[in-house]
Amino acid sequence: MSDVWIDELKKVVKGDVELSEKVLDKYSVDASIFQLKPEVVVFPKNSRDVESLVSFINSKKERFPDLSLTARAGGTDMTGGCLSESIVLSFTKYFNKIGNIKAKSVDVEPGVYFRDFEKRTLKKGLIFPTYPASKSICALGGMISNNSGGEKSIHYGKTAEHVLKLKVVLSDGKEYEFKKLNRGELNLKIGQKDFEGQIYREIFNLIDKNYDEIQKARPKVSKNSAGYYLWDVYDKKKGTFDLTQLFTGSQGTLGIITSAELELVKKKKHSRLVVCFLNNSKDLVRLVNLALPYKPESLETFDEKTLKLSMRFMPEIAKKMKANIFSLFFSFIGEAFMVLKSGFPKFVVLVELNEDDPKKLSKRLISLSKRFDLEEINHLVMKSEKAGEKYWTIRRESFNLLRQKVKGKIATPFIDDFAVNPKDLPKFFPELLKILEHYGVEPTLIGHAGSGNFHIIPLMDLSKASERAKIPVVSEKVYSLLGKYNGTITAEHNDGLIRTPYLSKMYSKKVLSLFEKVKDILDPKDIFNPGKKVHGDMKYAMEHIKKKND
Ligand SMILES: Cc1cc2nc3c(=O)[nH]c(=O)nc-3n(C[C@H](O)[C@H](O)[C@H](O)COP(=O)(O)OP(=O)(O)OC[C@H]3O[C@@H](n4cnc5c(N)ncnc54)[C@H](O)[C@@H]3O)c2cc1C
Repeated sequence: MSDVWIDELKKVVKGDVELSEKVLDKYSVDASIFQLKPEVVVFPKNSRDVESLVSFINSKKERFPDLSLTARAGGTDMTGGCLSESIVLSFTKYFNKIGNIKAKSVDVEPGVYFRDFEKRTLKKGLIFPTYPASKSICALGGMISNNSGGEKSIHYGKTAEHVLKLKVVLSDGKEYEFKKLNRGELNLKIGQKDFEGQIYREIFNLIDKNYDEIQKARPKVSKNSAGYYLWDVYDKKKGTFDLTQLFTGSQGTLGIITSAELELVKKKKHSRLVVCFLNNSKDLVRLVNLALPYKPESLETFDEKTLKLSMRFMPEIAKKMKANIFSLFFSFIGEAFMVLKSGFPKFVVLVELNEDDPKKLSKRLISLSKRFDLEEINHLVMKSEKAGEKYWTIRRESFNLLRQKVKGKIATPFIDDFAVNPKDLPKFFPELLKILEHYGVEPTLIGHAGSGNFHIIPLMDLSKASERAKIPVVSEKVYSLLGKYNGTITAEHNDGLIRTPYLSKMYSKKVLSLFEKVKDILDPKDIFNPGKKVHGDMKYAMEHIKKKND
């Protein structure tokens, strides 16, 4: 189809337009189980290019209803969020400028890789604290659009809480700036006679009219990426109205982000890890409750299988850490004694404490360690920040290693990101494991234990139809179970192709219809990333699962 409009498209953008098989193949996958080949990949040079592209689609939509725009940053989405069979807009090539870093904030473009961004902020002693485990491969546009969270979210919350301003190209083909408004500023916007005024008016009316229902729908968990976060837009008590909270986490379905002002926080000067070794999931819940009063910046876990896999991949782990394999091997001596004494652990839990004052840190560590001793929790206090790095590498890289290294099977994220209230874990976990066992789905488990958020990523042979067939069946069961426990189907990875069809397990029909109205107000012609967040289609998703294990 693209041969009909491609020459015209090439004329409206200054950036690169790519049609080569090599590029189309590269952009037809992300870190999900899906494969969707785009018709064309565009590397926009600037905001004008994005505006022109939206106007171009507007002019062609009647004749070619399937034409659409899907943004892509680092391409590490685990839900198929950045995949499309139409036009993919890739931001990492030209949208990679970082503005002057101010005392507490910075302007950035969506194609900036987090790894480059972090180097710059650290020079000023600052961090953007909601980075995901994929921090070495993801970019800021994707972190904002998925509302990513990570190892420090227990302390600093998720990306949405650190987004101060966004520039977004909307469906009328113009770029607008969004930020938190007070009542007076909101009234001025609502009074405008243009498209921006219409958006403010209609979204405000929708939220105001359904205020109680919307507040009731707010997920009762510490983290959530499912749906549109209508409950965070309008604060009636304070009289504030903030559309950045609607665009954040919307997976590029409401507009294309061209720039953002993000809040940064001061990095504490010293940190130390306490590594705990547990023999069962009951102790995991007990430990979370013991550790939380000590206000850790991170409280993370991974299971026995992940630990065994990372031992198998020790050379890769050493390479990632730029460490010598032999010294890395010997650094596990303390752990080896622990295993001899108490057996191989079922779970490893990382508790990180941070302070500017090293004396204060020591005091807190001693107190925590004493408490763990009293409660007979097997643990080691790392001797230095550096000594704890091997555990962070295992925690951050395990899924990436699974993706790349296990032959004949593929890491299969489809129930990969649920969260429940941590107090429900002792009941929830056995029920979950029963479902997985019944369907022969063998999980590896890593997670943010302190937030009750776990990543289950089974290794499956997706070349077999019988294995692929388990995906909708197990999803249905697991997401129903999450509904029963008032959990979220996705705490941070988002909905995409894989989970949009299951939003009904979390939200009422009424709330789902409000999500559809939001999409209708902002994107009435379905220009932006169709099939994600609303109008999900499991049949379409199943038809686009990769059938090769690579
Ligand atoms: C090994 C591994 C570990 C991971 N760990 C975590 C984790 O700990 N926490 C977590 O939250 N996630 C995690 N993820 C998922 C993913 O890496 C994150 O969600 C990440 O922030 C996505 O960033 P990205 O740049 O790769 O985005 P992409 O995959 O490129 O895009 C993500 C979404 O954002 C949209 N988007 C991108 N740019 C724009 C834009 N300019 N305007 C509008 N929409 C846009 C895309 O359309 C897509 O829907 C992990 C993934 C992997 C592979």
